[in-house]
Amino acid sequence: MVAEQLGKILTGATNKVPIIMVLNKCDANQDFVAEVERQVKEDCIWAASVVRVAADPKHGPLNQLCEKCGSPDISISTYRRRYACNECRHDDSFKKSYGLDELVKVTVGHLPGVVATSFSAAQKVWLEGLDQVAIRDICGFALTAGGIGAAPIPALTRLVLYPVQYAMVIRLATIYGVILSSSAGLHLVGSLSFISLAGLSGWGLATLLKCIPGLSVAGMATDAAVSSSVTLVMGLVTKTLLRRVRGRAMCNSDELAVTPEDLAEIMSNEERTSLFSEYFGRLTPTLAALFAEGAPSCEALEGAAAAAEGIDLTRRP
Ligand SMILES: [Zn+2]
Repeated sequence: MVAEQLGKILTGATNKVPIIMVLNKCDANQDFVAEVERQVKEDCIWAASVVRVAADPKHGPLNQLCEKCGSPDISISTYRRRYACNECRHDDSFKKSYGLDELVKVTVGHLPGVVATSFSAAQKVWLEGLDQVAIRDICGFALTAGGIGAAPIPALTRLVLYPVQYAMVIRLATIYGVILSSSAGLHLVGSLSFISLAGLSGWGLATLLKCIPGLSVAGMATDAAVSSSVTLVMGLVTKTLLRRVRGRAMCNSDELAVTPEDLAEIMSNEERTSLFSEYFGRLTPTLAALFAEGAPSCEALEGAAAAAEGIDLTRRP
């Protein structure tokens, strides 16, 4: 019942936001995990995918199968947090987490079509054109983040959003023709996550929450709204930063990747923070109204973001 209601709220009538269910604690016996997954799929037919994850494995590797050969014949020491395979002799400690790479793959596979189709549009050199493409993609990522945020495990949300936001930063860099070193990408997502977590309580999060009806289902729907909004604002800040990098022609030499130090020089942490809260403040009333009616469409979100940026979407390239 709850699952059905939640599905309705999240997918809405008019749009098809893919909802990805994250099944945590899959460091259990594979038959058990398979049974749980079967039930989740039955209850949540609206879920685009179900991904098995162990965010903080305590009982073994994913599905308690050897990572190397897939054999179920493993000896696990939960005390030492390691296991040994009796089949292939693989012997290793538990990883910090399992299944996140798969989650990234699945996420990227389900990105709204709008993101996938904008690659050709990104070839245009016109900066205003680039901005429009960037905003369209940011909204696609933001909606995807909302789908993940809706998985009923709030504590896990920040962790699983990280790959989506990283993918967004890299995507934006591609659009603006900026070559980011992977450490610069990670640094950027890390610093913006930190800013958003530190500031969320102060910036109208309460307003956002109050405007969402049916809060009973809704730790989850709320989480979706927050995940989307934070990802959206993170995208806009990144876009501003990358645009500035581009303006300084740092991307002219193809060999030189932009480093975290370059980024810090171009936009200080203080400026990132104030830009973040500025965008958040500007967008919150609109976003709250949008999410009050269920998951918004990509177009609606795009309209809100463009308005906050003062970009005229009717003049499409
Ligand atoms: Zn093995």
